[in-house]
Amino acid sequence: MQYLYDLNLAELQQALIAHGVPKFHAGQIFTALHQGVAVDDITNISKDLRAWLKQNYRCDLPTIVTEKRSVDGTKKYLLSYQDGERTDLIECVFLTQNYGNTVCVSTQVGCRMGCQFCASGKNGLVRNLSAGEILAEVILVNKLNATDKVRGVTNIVLMGSGEPLDNFDNVMRFLALVTSADGINISARNISLSTSGLVPQIKKFADLGTQVNLCISLHAPNDVLRQQIMPIAKRYSVAEIIDAAKYFFQKTHRRVIFEYSLMLKDGVPFNCNVAQARELANLVRGFPAHINLINLNPLRFAPGAVLTPPSRPVAMAFMDAVIKSGVSCTMRKNKGDDIDGACGQLRLQHLANLPSQS
Ligand code: SAH
Ligand code: SF4
Repeated sequence: MQYLYDLNLAELQQALIAHGVPKFHAGQIFTALHQGVAVDDITNISKDLRAWLKQNYRCDLPTIVTEKRSVDGTKKYLLSYQDGERTDLIECVFLTQNYGNTVCVSTQVGCRMGCQFCASGKNGLVRNLSAGEILAEVILVNKLNATDKVRGVTNIVLMGSGEPLDNFDNVMRFLALVTSADGINISARNISLSTSGLVPQIKKFADLGTQVNLCISLHAPNDVLRQQIMPIAKRYSVAEIIDAAKYFFQKTHRRVIFEYSLMLKDGVPFNCNVAQARELANLVRGFPAHINLINLNPLRFAPGAVLTPPSRPVAMAFMDAVIKSGVSCTMRKNKGDDIDGACGQLRLQHLANLPSQS
């Protein structure tokens, strides 16, 4: 059965017309759904129409499995979608900042990229999320957190579980839905999409003339090191990624952000010594880019993890060396660390406590 949240306004109008219902009801339904109103509570349409929607579409928002609150105000949700017999788990995070409130959404159940340090990829890809399923994360978190006094979601980052550009069509449809004026209406400029560096899809995304911010997870300044951290590096070289980033800038005039997680391997700097900082700066110097450093969030539920975060002096020395080489660079705070903040950790922990579903 199709998920009601997958439909855009034009498709909902078509469906109602085909059912012999005036199409103006589509706008009422679309707006109410995006505000987080359940079908049963859309009172400006008839009871019959509500019943028809429920008979013909899957209408439920995801179920909250657990909610964790950090001392810094971050809330992390483990959500589930029921897919026949199977329960699919995804994570979603709500962060409050002084400029607004951000929701970090998942785009896939699991991830097939298998990056060494990441919990989301540990069990591979289960399935893509549909556009409506990604949207429903935003709608649910907005509904749970917006009050008369507190603003709900103002910003979105596609940085939860999954590789957004590996689920290209659904993610593009999600972006269209979430920026729709009749819906939750988040500005594209307040949305950031993070990718592990799928070069052809970055170019395709640029060609769409998007106003969404692009973040590229680099994590290493050269191919030899990157291939040890991220399997996708065997497919696309660092040089190809930098070219794609420049192309994205030319097409969209949006500055590209490179994400770089600082890590030690067996206790010694792996990608975070001063020479590597200079190598990184040399790569991105000369075009409008920014480097966002983050200290590795070590996997607490993956036995045998050898990757750990560096000490503060090592991280600061890295950042100073990048800045002194003439490149804009900041260090991101690890928000929600005390509640297993990094992507996929809550899900991995939950799966570890569950019997196998296969
Ligand atoms: N798949 C996309 C988006 C999701 S991950 C991507 O890889 O870009 C979002 C960001 O969190 C990426 O930069 C990713 O490399 C980083 N990340 C994942 N696990 C992490 C961890 N344990 N510690 C620090 N950063 C992590
Ligand atoms: Fe997938 Fe991103 Fe995690 Fe890599 S870092 S496994 S691409 S979610």
